[in-house]
Amino acid sequence: MLQVVSLTYSPFAENTYLVYDETGECVIIDPGCYTKEEEKHLAHTIQLHKLKPVRLLNTHGHIDHVFGNQFVLDTWGLEAEIHRGELPVLNSVPMVAQMYGVPMRNAVPPPGRFLEDGEEITFGKTILKSILAPGHSPAHLCFYQAKDHFLIGGDVLFQGSIGRTDLPGGDHEQLLDSIRKRIYVLPDETTVYSGHGPETTIGWEAKTNPFVRRD
Ligand SMILES: [Zn+2]
Ligand SMILES: [Zn+2]
Repeated sequence: MLQVVSLTYSPFAENTYLVYDETGECVIIDPGCYTKEEEKHLAHTIQLHKLKPVRLLNTHGHIDHVFGNQFVLDTWGLEAEIHRGELPVLNSVPMVAQMYGVPMRNAVPPPGRFLEDGEEITFGKTILKSILAPGHSPAHLCFYQAKDHFLIGGDVLFQGSIGRTDLPGGDHEQLLDSIRKRIYVLPDETTVYSGHGPETTIGWEAKTNPFVRRD
């Protein structure tokens, strides 16, 4: 049975997820820890649950989702895995940091590996499946596990909202299309753990989301 720990970090209130199973192996998804205290908090939480981080996954390359990539590399020796199409976004992070006035102590290290759409990502006894859902960013991935009905959704779908599409590489129609064809096709009982805000379910959003509903 998969367990999910949700941690909220940085001035962007970004949700960082630890996903683990009974083996104690865990994946760190979108480490958004920004301050030294937040980095310590992440390490402490991992210790507290006696977890062994074995992979670092990024849903997409936006600054708030990759703040902690260098810390995770330094601490657990894990290089980020992300879709190749997010490279331009990742490469623009230093510029974005300046633009937003959020100086970064750490560089963003280059990814160690690229993930494909539909790839099976294994750790412990678990298999997560990547789902390409572009629109908020050019090659955004969600991570799905059918058996325990959960989706790490990044910035695609939020409780009562959807990801913004006014950033470089964003496309509103494409995002709506991704949600309809790739996310709302998942079972209603699927819990969606979003990149910001509280969790929700596919069934609830497909019925009530003011931006996009199941046709
Ligand atoms: Zn984003
Ligand atoms: Zn975000």
